[in-house]
Amino acid sequence: MTPTQCQKCATPLPASDFASGLCERCRNSLMSGGALEELAGGSDQQLKTQPSFAVALPQEATRTFYQPEPRTRAVPTEQLEDNTPLPDLLRQLPPSPPGYQLLKRLGCGGMGDVFLAREYPTERLVALKMLRSFGNPNVAERFVAEVRALARLNHPNIVRVLATDFLRQQPFFTMEYIEGGTLADRLRQQGPIDPHEAARLIRTAAQAVHAAHCAQVLHRDLKPSNILLDAHGQPHISDFGLAKLLDRDDGLVTATGPLGTPSYMPPEQCSKRFGPVGPAADVYGLGATLYHMVVGRPPFSGSSTPEIIRHIEQTPPIRPRVIRPEIPLELEAIILKCLQKRPHDRYPTAAALAEDLERFLAATPPSAPLHTPWRRFYLWMWSQRGRLLTLVATLGLVGLGTALGTFLSPLRQPEESAHNILDKIYQRLGQDQPVTLVPTEGLPTWYKIVHGHATLSSDLTSERSCVYSSLGHGLILLLPEVPVDHYTIRAEIRQMNLLTPRREGLQTGGLFLDYFRDDQSLPGCVIHSARHISFLDHHYAPNNPQAYPFPEHVSFGSLCLVERPGASPVFSLENNTYTHPFTPSIVCPGPWRGIEITVQPDAITVSWGEDPSRIIRFAELGQLALHYSAFKATRPLRLSFPQLQYQPPLWNPHRGLGLWCHRAAYAIRNLTITPHTSP
Ligand code: ADP
Ligand code: MG
Repeated sequence: MTPTQCQKCATPLPASDFASGLCERCRNSLMSGGALEELAGGSDQQLKTQPSFAVALPQEATRTFYQPEPRTRAVPTEQLEDNTPLPDLLRQLPPSPPGYQLLKRLGCGGMGDVFLAREYPTERLVALKMLRSFGNPNVAERFVAEVRALARLNHPNIVRVLATDFLRQQPFFTMEYIEGGTLADRLRQQGPIDPHEAARLIRTAAQAVHAAHCAQVLHRDLKPSNILLDAHGQPHISDFGLAKLLDRDDGLVTATGPLGTPSYMPPEQCSKRFGPVGPAADVYGLGATLYHMVVGRPPFSGSSTPEIIRHIEQTPPIRPRVIRPEIPLELEAIILKCLQKRPHDRYPTAAALAEDLERFLAATPPSAPLHTPWRRFYLWMWSQRGRLLTLVATLGLVGLGTALGTFLSPLRQPEESAHNILDKIYQRLGQDQPVTLVPTEGLPTWYKIVHGHATLSSDLTSERSCVYSSLGHGLILLLPEVPVDHYTIRAEIRQMNLLTPRREGLQTGGLFLDYFRDDQSLPGCVIHSARHISFLDHHYAPNNPQAYPFPEHVSFGSLCLVERPGASPVFSLENNTYTHPFTPSIVCPGPWRGIEITVQPDAITVSWGEDPSRIIRFAELGQLALHYSAFKATRPLRLSFPQLQYQPPLWNPHRGLGLWCHRAAYAIRNLTITPHTSP
């Protein structure tokens, strides 16, 4: 029956609104996002009377086993534990909206999922973005804001909106389909890009961003995964999910916490003290993307979001030419100008950036100042001006001896030298040179105890190797981040002793990598998560029923440790999935064993040698297996804090590595990290 009353407010409808079933006021409020949630709660009957675009679709298109996923980019893990084959899960599609046939999922992110779809009756391919977190009005409003921003823009290098449908239970809009994948995919597969090609691509992207600025739209989330490449390799800016319309107060800027993806986010998006967010924020995003394209990694990374944000606010980025000397001086100057901390030190507009890139491509000097040795010296003097003035004044007042004494005071020394040591390690790794983190004798080059009361010493045995131990859990970081994403870690390790009787529970230890410190998710608590390789090298009498029945094997898996104020930590070790048996030692200390871990951007292989010269590979994990293992390790956290819906961080080859132990002492030597040259 044709509805003669509005389905929402029951006012009589004019004949022109019979088809939609809604009065003009309700339709408008629905499109502005405010009523989306209300409609979500509507009865089935109500939803069935929504207008529908009746086109006969193939049966495939009406599959109904889609369950909205609870969090971003997370595999629906309850199902993982049922051992359902993983790829099938990722292939599940929701029912196709009328007028479209969903063909495959192109991506899933914060607000919604993006599908490749066929539009009927035109039969053209489109990208269809569907809102997922439907119950959250904030997300729904942002979704509307995204399509509103896109609809304003008409530029060949910005994805175009084709159609919208916000009148149904599952709002969606369609965009032109860009078939070449994202710039992030390309960087992941091919590594750094030729500087001239990168400059051409960002010049085109900057012109598109300038067009958006002229239409009063700020993107605020420019990064490689939001730049799509077409069949000719041309960039198309997408994902305006964080866009701000400058001429409209949509209230979305005031959302709590910083907006954006930390590694590419300008300082003013992290903290208000850098001033308001304007076009210079997008200039920064383009510069950070260009940095990643030519260097092979984003300008800032770290083991936790607060750490990355601290770097963004305080630390200058490592100069691109320090990591890749073949990058031209002029392009480095342009990148560094985009990455200035204060917005007014950057290019004032994206068009100015495009023009400077044009100059670089035409081999004429850019407007950005070159970072020659003289300029670096001048900048260093300028950055140290406070100290230099103090030094001169002190010299005048107290005399040369006292002044030098103050400057070289033992209080300042360790911090500065630690900073320099890490810088040198990063530089060497960036230049694809191997680095020794723990030498044959003595303590690690750099370390920081990140949890527990671990001790390190270098003189417990005649070999003077580095011994580390902890009565509780001890986590010792040896490198906070790894600037390359393809490398091999090798080490020799032996068990020295157990610190508690065997029957009292688990004693184990080894190395960890992909270390992530999270002090945001659980207020007052710190969550440490990492991948670990662990072993317990101690003979026990198999015929003695009193002996603690723990098999001697080496295992690879994930660990998760939650520090709680005033309570003992929640600790969980996932070490059953990848294990390898070996013959345990009957004496303490045990013999030297060998460990070799090869890390790739999305996979890892783990090898072990009972004797360091005979290494055997025993585990090979892709991203899904790594995520599954981390998911199992964080299960106690989800059980203890169900309201948190905790999802473990995704595998990241750039995160730091270190040593760990629990109620045992180990010795380590020859721990090296060897980068593999990018393809
Ligand atoms: P999110 O807010 O989740 O990051 P995006 O708009 O960036 O959403 O889309 C997520 C992924 O979907 C992208 O990384 C890309 O792989 C794919 N995608 C998005 N829009 C298109 C498009 N127009 N054509 C092809 N793929 C797209
Ligand atoms: Mg995106």
